[in-house]
Amino acid sequence: MPRTVVIHYGEIGLKGKNRWFFERKLLEAVDRAAARIAPRRAGWEHGRLVLDLGDEDPAPYLDALQRVPGIAWLAPAEVTPLDADAMVATVVDQARRGPPDASFRVEARRANKKFPLTSVELNRQAGAAVVAATRRPVDLEEPAVTYSVEIGEKRAYVYSERRRGLGGLPTGTAGRLLALLSGGIDSPVAAFRMMRRGCLVAGLHFFNETATSHGVRDKLDRLCRVLARYQGRMRLHVVPFEPLQREIVMTVPAPCRMIVYRRMMFRIAERMLPRERALGFVTGDSIGQVASQTLRNLRVIYAAAEHPVYTPLAGMDKTEIVDEARRIGTFEVSILPYGDCCSFLVPAHPETAARLAAVEAMERFDVEGFVAAAAAGTVTKVFTEDGEVTPSAGRAAVAGEAPE
Ligand code: ATP
Ligand code: MG
Repeated sequence: MPRTVVIHYGEIGLKGKNRWFFERKLLEAVDRAAARIAPRRAGWEHGRLVLDLGDEDPAPYLDALQRVPGIAWLAPAEVTPLDADAMVATVVDQARRGPPDASFRVEARRANKKFPLTSVELNRQAGAAVVAATRRPVDLEEPAVTYSVEIGEKRAYVYSERRRGLGGLPTGTAGRLLALLSGGIDSPVAAFRMMRRGCLVAGLHFFNETATSHGVRDKLDRLCRVLARYQGRMRLHVVPFEPLQREIVMTVPAPCRMIVYRRMMFRIAERMLPRERALGFVTGDSIGQVASQTLRNLRVIYAAAEHPVYTPLAGMDKTEIVDEARRIGTFEVSILPYGDCCSFLVPAHPETAARLAAVEAMERFDVEGFVAAAAAGTVTKVFTEDGEVTPSAGRAAVAGEAPE
C-alpha cells in the first residue's frame, strides 16, 4: 500500500486573499524539510498537503515536518483508490495490526462531495467490518484509536495516528527580525517563538573576548544550529563588545551599567537591521525575572531602539520558558557552563527604577564612535542544522530569500 503524509494547516486558512501566498510558503517549507531526507515534492489537495513516500518509512519525514511552522497536525497515511471497499479493507487491515482489545471509531471525511457514500455510511460500513474482523469494541465518545478516512478527489487516505505540528505560520510570511541572543536559556526560546509566527529570524550576539571563554562562541554556534531546524538556516552576527564594556565599567555607576550596556546593544543592533532587511528586534526579556527586566528599566532600555522590540516571553514564567527550551532542543546547549558576557556586570545592588534622563546623562562616552566600531567589527556566520555553511551555499536552503 503506498504511503503518504497528510498535512493539515491551521491558521493560514484564515488569510483570505493572501491565502495562496501562505500556501505557497508552506509548500516550499515542506519540500525543503523533506529534501533533507530525499528529494520529494508535496502537492495540494483540497486544503491539505500530501507528501507521497512510495514504500519509504514515514518516521524521519514526520520528525522533520513536526518542526515546520504552519502545520497544525499531520498523519502518516495509507493511500487507497477512490473505492469504498478498498477504504474499508484498509481500515480493517490497520485495525488488525492495532492494539487487539482497544476500543475504536471510524471517522470519514468527504472533501470530495461527489463520492457516492456519505461519511456516516462509510463510518458504519468500516466500523461493522472492523468489529466482524477483530471483535474490538466501538466507542464513539472516547475511543482508544480513531481510524480516519479522508476522501479526496482521486484517492483516499487512511490513518490512525495523528501528530501535532508546531502550529503558527509558514516561514517567511511575516518578514524578518533580528534576535538578540545571549547564549542563555531565554533568548533562543524568544527567537523560536517569532519563527513560529512566520518571521525569518537572524541572531545577533555581543561578545566579550576577554571576560568569557571561547566556549560562548561555540555555544552560540550550536544554538543557531538548533534554531536552524525551524527555518532551514540561521544567520548569526557576532559583535565585538569588549572595548565598550570596558568603557562602561570605567564611566558608568555600577547600578546602571547593565542598562547602559543594553541600550548600546540596541544602538548597534539598529545599525545591523538594514543588513538583514529586518523590521524589528526580539529579546528574551521576561517581566521581573532579573533587575534589567523591570518595566521601568525596560522602558529606558528599549528607548534606545528606533524599531519595535518584540518580547514574546514577557508574560511567561521561568519554568514555562525552560519547558519550551527543552521541547525545542535549546535547553541542553543553553545550560552549558559558560556565563553570558554580561553576568560579570551585574552589581550587588542594581537599579530597578531607572529614569531615562538620568541614564542618558551617564552616557558621556563617544556613543557614535563605539557603535560604528562595533558594527564595523561584526562577523557573520550562517548555519544549517548540520553546521556552518558559506553564505552563498546556505542561501538556497532558506525560506523567502530574495537575491541581494
Ligand atoms: P537570556 O536567558 O536570554 O540570557 P536573561 O534572563 O539572562 O536572558 P539578561 O541577561 O538580562 O536576561 O538579557 C536579557 C535579554 O537581552 C536577553 O534575552 C537577550 O535578548 C539580550 N542579551 C543579553 N545579553 C546579550 C548578549 N551578550 N548578546 C545579545 N543579546 C543579549
Ligand atoms: Mg542572560
